[in-house]
Amino acid sequence: TYLVTCAPVTLETPGTGAIISFNDVTLREEAGQMRRDFVANVSHELRTPLTALLGFIETLSGAAKDDAAARTRFLEIMETEATRMNRLVGDLLSLSRVESEERIRPNDMVDVEVLVRSAVQSLSALALAENVQIVVKVDESSMKAPGDSDQLLQVFTNLIENAIKYGGRNKTVEVNLSISTNENSLRGPGVRVEVIDHGAGIDPQYLPRLTERFYRVDSHRSREMGGTGLGLAIVKHIINRHRGRLRISSATGEGSKFSVVLPIRKA
Ligand code: ADP
Repeated sequence: TYLVTCAPVTLETPGTGAIISFNDVTLREEAGQMRRDFVANVSHELRTPLTALLGFIETLSGAAKDDAAARTRFLEIMETEATRMNRLVGDLLSLSRVESEERIRPNDMVDVEVLVRSAVQSLSALALAENVQIVVKVDESSMKAPGDSDQLLQVFTNLIENAIKYGGRNKTVEVNLSISTNENSLRGPGVRVEVIDHGAGIDPQYLPRLTERFYRVDSHRSREMGGTGLGLAIVKHIINRHRGRLRISSATGEGSKFSVVLPIRKA
């Protein structure tokens, strides 16, 4: 098991727009390096689909100009590549928005069960395509916590989408909601949401890096499934903003469990 968020707020990559003043030179250098790595990663991730698009545009306006069959095929690939870029830009914007709000604690009470069910609903087409059954189990009648409903919806959508994508075809994904009374380090009760899959699992050595931006255990599989490598980074920042906890446990060959606990008490 790996506890991802233990400090209330992690001063991670300053990244997009957040101003953090460090007195310590080492910290400042590290932050600078992280920012440069991030920019290099973003450029690389954008350049790959762009290069493909430019190549197809050239072919379509030259060699394949009068080839109707090739045109149809190439346009389909171009759509896939453009969709990938669009998703990446969307995730980058989400990440930057979440980071800039990380210090503002959300205070509206949200119904966590409603959000979980809405996430499941929005993923029903993907689940159907992968022949995955999603089973939601709710322990208590009321699952309310202070939160930002759009952001929490994104958390549950990302986690359940990953469970479908990496859990494998013809498997079951379980989503369990319960009240946790003694979440250590949370200082009070919380709403717990567990997303469990029965896929290939994750080798424990990779767990600590899973929520880093652009970190993927298997890049090929992630790209094949349309992943940007930013989903869990976004999840981590949103949970930090809610002063919640994210625990990841996994066993190779058996599957993974992503457990989110959100404090019930208002700020
Ligand atoms: P991606 O867009 O690649 O899915 P994420 O940030 O959501 O990016 O996840 C990062 C990586 O963590 C994934 O590429 C995958 O290797 C691994 N991962 C995430 N969820 C699971 C899961 N349920 N089972 C196995 N591996 C997972």
